[in-house]
Amino acid sequence: MDSLMNLEKKNIVIAGAGIIGISSALYLIRRGCKVTLIDKDFKGKPASYGNASWLAGSSITPVVMPGMFSKIPKMLFSKDGPLFFRFPGILKTIPFLLKYLSYAKVDKVEYISKHLASLLSDSIKEHKKLAEGTKAIKWIEESPFIFVYKNKNDFLKDSFTWDLRKKHGFNLIELEKDQLKNLLPGISNEYQFAIKIDDQGYISNSQNYLDDLINGFKDLGGEIIEDEVLDIISKDNKLEIKTKNNNLNADNILISSGIYSESFSKKFGVEVPIQSERGYHLELFETNIRIKYPIMNGYLKLAITPRPTGIRFAGLVEFGSMNYKPNHKAYELLLRNAKSMFPGITYSKKEEWSGHRPSTVDSLPIIGPSKKDNKVFFAYGHHHIGLTAAPKTGEMIGKNILRDNDQYDLTPYSPAR
Ligand SMILES: Cc1cc2nc3c(=O)[nH]c(=O)nc-3n(C[C@H](O)[C@H](O)[C@H](O)COP(=O)(O)OP(=O)(O)OC[C@H]3O[C@@H](n4cnc5c(N)ncnc54)[C@H](O)[C@@H]3O)c2cc1C
Repeated sequence: MDSLMNLEKKNIVIAGAGIIGISSALYLIRRGCKVTLIDKDFKGKPASYGNASWLAGSSITPVVMPGMFSKIPKMLFSKDGPLFFRFPGILKTIPFLLKYLSYAKVDKVEYISKHLASLLSDSIKEHKKLAEGTKAIKWIEESPFIFVYKNKNDFLKDSFTWDLRKKHGFNLIELEKDQLKNLLPGISNEYQFAIKIDDQGYISNSQNYLDDLINGFKDLGGEIIEDEVLDIISKDNKLEIKTKNNNLNADNILISSGIYSESFSKKFGVEVPIQSERGYHLELFETNIRIKYPIMNGYLKLAITPRPTGIRFAGLVEFGSMNYKPNHKAYELLLRNAKSMFPGITYSKKEEWSGHRPSTVDSLPIIGPSKKDNKVFFAYGHHHIGLTAAPKTGEMIGKNILRDNDQYDLTPYSPAR
């Protein structure tokens, strides 16, 4: 272990100021490091801006689950299916998709869940620790989650997922029709059954949360640079970081550039394939119907979150779409879903957004050092759970960079796997 004196003086550059980058930056600056946070566009609205904003300790299961293969055609081709393939981009992703689907096996899903659970546990407490002393603290809300179903039989069809959650200690509270109506006034009569999980939470304004965390980092003396990292050159015991407008030196660099991390990680020996799972949101403002709790609609794969003046409907998965404009069919689908779930909903205006979830082939993020150069570190690939897992990831990678990690086993997330 380096001596504490040496650790605290480290000069660290972080490439990417999404939720993973800023969480890592705050951890490291609080440990006394000199930290520079670089982002190519601080107002760029990345995945960390537009997500469903759930602090979802219970999201321990990956997207690919046993039995999924047979459900794909319906998800893809039915009018309200939540899955999109974008042509011709999808053709290049086929090798990834085949490998991705090979993880839809009981033993593999159990392994993934176990190692997602360690990143997601105590998420509310972890976010409060992250935001402590910054204005971001006010955007953290504690709340139960409500998973709605049309009937109990449909819930029982998802028993593999729910049994895994139970195994990981989540208490499932069943709600019948009347209780559901009381909790979610305005919801369609189609939904007659629900599961409630207590002690979860959400961020009530994801943009303000990020901005306030970044301001908190600046208040602690952190440096912010708006620029694009183009290359990383390793020389003797130092790194030279080439950006569009400048060159910087650092002891270490952390790559936390979300879906854009791959261009650097390949150079430094990471072979874990990654693809964008593009997601979409539709936010309705000044709605006549207001919800108090986040709601999951498993049929539509839609996460519905209370917002300061309305409701955000977020979800869908689009593969092969990295280099294309957003898909207008996705927004139409979100609006149709919003209206079908809340018949009679009105609003003053709407916001449409899309962003790229960075998804690894084995549904576990990449957290740790490069196998080629121990000055270079990675924290990316958090697919559907990056907001929830960010504070724990920041602490894990921070300890790893400072070489004092005797607490966390990073093997499942190793960039060298
Ligand atoms: C629709 C949707 C719903 C979601 N819902 C949830 C949810 O409810 N809960 C949850 O936990 N997660 C959710 N997620 C997932 C979560 O949003 C992501 O996992 C997370 O935001 C990833 O964060 P990140 O910091 O790795 O990447 P990003 O947020 O993409 O940030 C990467 C940053 O790197 C910058 N960058 C890229 N390249 C460079 C470069 N060369 N130089 C400098 N800067 C660079 C970008 O400008 C960007 O700001 C959702 C995602 C989507 C799309």
